[in-house]
Amino acid sequence: MTTFHSTRSTTDSLTSKEAIRKGIADDGGLFVTDSLGETKVDIANLAGRPYQDIAYDVLHALLPDFDEDELKACIAAAYGDQWSDERITPLKPVGDDYILELFNGPTSAFKDVALQILPRFMARTTPADGDENEKIMILTATSGDTGKAALAGFADAPGTAITVFYPQGKVSQVQELQMTTQTGSNVNVAAVEGNFDDAQSAVKRIFGDKELAERLAADSHVVLSSANSINVGRLVPQVVYYFSAYAQLLEQQVINVGDEVEFVVPTGNFGDILAGYYAKRLGLPVKHLVVASDKNNVLFDFLTSGTYNRQRPFFQTISPSMDILVSSNLERMLYYFTEGDTRLISMLMNDLKQWGAYEIPDDVLAKIRHLFGCGWADEDQVRAMIADCWTKNHYVIDPHTACAYYVAQQMPRDPLTPRVILATASPYKFPRVVNEALGLDATGTDFECMDVLARETGTAAPAALRALETADVRFDTVVPIDGMEGFVESAAKAL
Ligand SMILES: *Cc1c(COP(=O)(O)O)cnc(C)c1O
Repeated sequence: MTTFHSTRSTTDSLTSKEAIRKGIADDGGLFVTDSLGETKVDIANLAGRPYQDIAYDVLHALLPDFDEDELKACIAAAYGDQWSDERITPLKPVGDDYILELFNGPTSAFKDVALQILPRFMARTTPADGDENEKIMILTATSGDTGKAALAGFADAPGTAITVFYPQGKVSQVQELQMTTQTGSNVNVAAVEGNFDDAQSAVKRIFGDKELAERLAADSHVVLSSANSINVGRLVPQVVYYFSAYAQLLEQQVINVGDEVEFVVPTGNFGDILAGYYAKRLGLPVKHLVVASDKNNVLFDFLTSGTYNRQRPFFQTISPSMDILVSSNLERMLYYFTEGDTRLISMLMNDLKQWGAYEIPDDVLAKIRHLFGCGWADEDQVRAMIADCWTKNHYVIDPHTACAYYVAQQMPRDPLTPRVILATASPYKFPRVVNEALGLDATGTDFECMDVLARETGTAAPAALRALETADVRFDTVVPIDGMEGFVESAAKAL
């Protein structure tokens, strides 16, 4: 029986459904299972199978308490025609490497892979304390991508509601419109007078407010939950596309069954790349996983020195979804690389909280480095790579993908091991930056930039992004930081 407990203690024993509903353990740790990898996914006949079939095998191995019908229904609803490519995550040869496109979902960012299915998982969990009318309200502060992907996933999902806060004036025109035009009867969006950190800290305070929790439960049958990437239900759907990439390499006769592959991953919170590690544990022949960071290179320093130090300047860059100083999912990797040493993990996380830094033992670092490579790109390098990839390959990449592309170019190439670069956003989400990098006109609105980019590169903007220009704005509320709690409460009452 697969059970989940915290990375910081072994006292809990939760099913995957319980872990998904709960999100985070009471001691602040992340849910992990010691059964990871006991069930392998058969790689011998991956070639030619649809994404949805591969997803079933992988998710069944990771979430065994969902029965076959439940899992198949979740998969069919999450990976249907809201994706613009029937392969869901198509693999494309680009130069000597391969690009795995993770951005063909409804919001044009890789977070759709997980957030299209998480609400469907949640709808199949049941309240812990038996209140059958209980609704889950997802609460998220966003610097851009997560908010929209979560809104799109949870809109009109049964038994749920969602409230998203974004920092006023700090997200792009496209990102703001993506959120303020969101349809659905259970969604709420507000801009916050403050920056992302202010909004994020306020959301954490709201989660910790016991009196508010009691009022929400009593008055509105609402429990708050988070859709951020520490939820195990957000992590495991990402394992699937590593297998899908392998299946496509087999199909394109680039590899034979059993050959090793290398993945280069634009990294922020460490969820995307950690899923690659889970794939390896499930039997995928992964040779290396390469962490690509932007100028916020805390992971590069950690992987080269063994010291994680968050006390450093924070840079707001042109790859905003990777501007992160604390990569939460790293805690899960540390758990597995210390053979489940929950005492050590608690100590490290305590050091991080108290001193802003921690240091891991040399032997653990050595093991991690055996599998994980690392590199980073500054903003000039990112711009140069967007241009380089276009000039050499006639393929347009976004600033996040460009970090990984840069790191891949810097690495020595092993001609026997194919390299897959994960592409995490459509370039049309960042049309201004992309146009600047390509030397195209970037003086107009984001929509004019999209049109220029389409015309000059012969590519097409995702229809949902281009249509935002004329979509109806449903939300224009601006709240001060200390008004966020009240906003949540009235949203809950209105359900
Ligand atoms: C969230 C995000 C990332 C980082 O992924 P993590 O799982 O947080 O490491 C990279 N690129 C884009 C476009 C994203 O939205």
